[in-house]
Amino acid sequence: MDFVFVTVSVMFALLGVCVGSFLNVVVYRVPRGMSIANPPSHCTSCGHKLAWRDNIPLFSYIFLGGKCRYCHRPYSSRYFWVELLNGLLWLCCAFMYYDDLFLCSVFAVTLSVLLTMSLCDYDNLFIPDSLQIALAVVAILSVWAFDEADILSKLWGLLGAGGFFLAFYGLSFVVFGREGMGFADVKLMASLGFLLGWKYVSVAVIAGIVVALFDIALQNTLNKNKDMFTKPEYPFAPYLAWGGAFAIFFASYVIDWYVTLFF
Ligand SMILES: [Zn+2]
Repeated sequence: MDFVFVTVSVMFALLGVCVGSFLNVVVYRVPRGMSIANPPSHCTSCGHKLAWRDNIPLFSYIFLGGKCRYCHRPYSSRYFWVELLNGLLWLCCAFMYYDDLFLCSVFAVTLSVLLTMSLCDYDNLFIPDSLQIALAVVAILSVWAFDEADILSKLWGLLGAGGFFLAFYGLSFVVFGREGMGFADVKLMASLGFLLGWKYVSVAVIAGIVVALFDIALQNTLNKNKDMFTKPEYPFAPYLAWGGAFAIFFASYVIDWYVTLFF
């Protein structure tokens, strides 16, 4: 196996797990208006400050059996799964883009921001502006990850994806007489459109909407929940994030396949 490939993959996986641990802090603290740095990591049940050995991503959770070392209250397993998922996402980025480390990093950070947005939206039906700014900054940095010719594709991506969701946003006022989709989703998709360019973001939008429709239909069938479509708000960022991740990993294959259908 290629030495560079293995080194990059291992580094990205380890770094991804550590970043995942940081994302857990962001998801818990930022929507509560708390500082990310202060106070230092502590048990949310007993308030005991965590030592470095209680704070090793993945391992501490396993060795402590998912419980606080001091008060023995169980931690949410989500901390563990977010660390693992983020590590796997970064590993997949390394697998696909290891020959271009800047692009690889841009996509890895994008996926982490999208994951954080999803969790915040799922928990609070709200995406903090600091995360929107983070995604916009990554989108701007992505200009240097592609050839200059891609700027036009990026602008079309911004206008297309942003405009598409802005139209939905506006339409919901006409049809339902209220906000049917958060403006946060419009901002998210405008950034993602610029980041991915119009081809990739088209794949992201379709993948996101298809899964959203399937999931909502499935939940309706399972829960017999008649309120699903009349609920005042519904977290949509997880679907958009899924669409973005699908595009980052599979859009090139989807586009190749689509082209062979016509040419
Ligand atoms: Zn405790």
